[in-house]
Amino acid sequence: MKLANLDGRATILTAQGTIDVETSSGGRFPSHPDAAVTRVAEIRDWLATARPPADPKATLAALATEPARLGPPVTHPSQIFAVGLNYLDHSAETGLIVPESPLVFTKFSSSLAGPGADIPLPAPTCDWEIELVVVIGKGGRDIPESKALDHIAGFCVGQDISERAAQMAGATPQFSLAKSHRAFTPIGPWLTTPDELDDPDDLALTCTLDGETVQSGRTRDMIFDIPSLISHLSGICELRPADLIFTGTPAGVGYSRTPPRYLTPGSVLSSTIDTLGTLTNTCT
Ligand code: ZN
Repeated sequence: MKLANLDGRATILTAQGTIDVETSSGGRFPSHPDAAVTRVAEIRDWLATARPPADPKATLAALATEPARLGPPVTHPSQIFAVGLNYLDHSAETGLIVPESPLVFTKFSSSLAGPGADIPLPAPTCDWEIELVVVIGKGGRDIPESKALDHIAGFCVGQDISERAAQMAGATPQFSLAKSHRAFTPIGPWLTTPDELDDPDDLALTCTLDGETVQSGRTRDMIFDIPSLISHLSGICELRPADLIFTGTPAGVGYSRTPPRYLTPGSVLSSTIDTLGTLTNTCT
């Protein structure tokens, strides 16, 4: 199932059209995207048995080409975790040491944006990082790896935009602030439930800048896989429904190039993950 934020309402997208979760269920399920995410499994079961009609005015294919009509699938998560240096090839290009446990920072939730949002550049040193984003459906503490998948509502594509000069300015890196400017966290284009994926541990990620491929990787190359991240994080912080986990980026970011390469006004950043869809963001 593909669950989107269309005009601020939780909406199921199908090839035939859209299904508004609240009105089609007669009020059984909530309209707010964040509330719907916490009941994804129930909504999926209801969809399979109730077979509600779809509104053909907007189909999945049409919305895929017009991501600006969609908002972020989750709007106000209580926590956004992000994992640095989680792909070997990216650790190598940064020249930093491969971490022995996950390197975790936050992206503040006010930086969230929709899948087609413009990204205002606050400095000439802004960079791209395509990432697989895990959306938590069921919270908890001390979740064992063997139970981690039970806590996932779904997956979406994310960009972890970074202002590198600020990130690197101090004696210790300022990951969290440098990655939390306005619209620095576009996600979407919708949430895809785990049953639609053959293998979330082996998805292709591709990021293009003005049509040129700048990142191309696979989620199987993560150093810490999704179950180990959920287990590690929940051993410290209580995970809550609708929380997000940015799982790290493969090689090909701009600042580790010679010379460094950064986003410029007018740049079009396209971020695609197998089965999950594409974000298309224009820098301004
Ligand atoms: Zn990142």
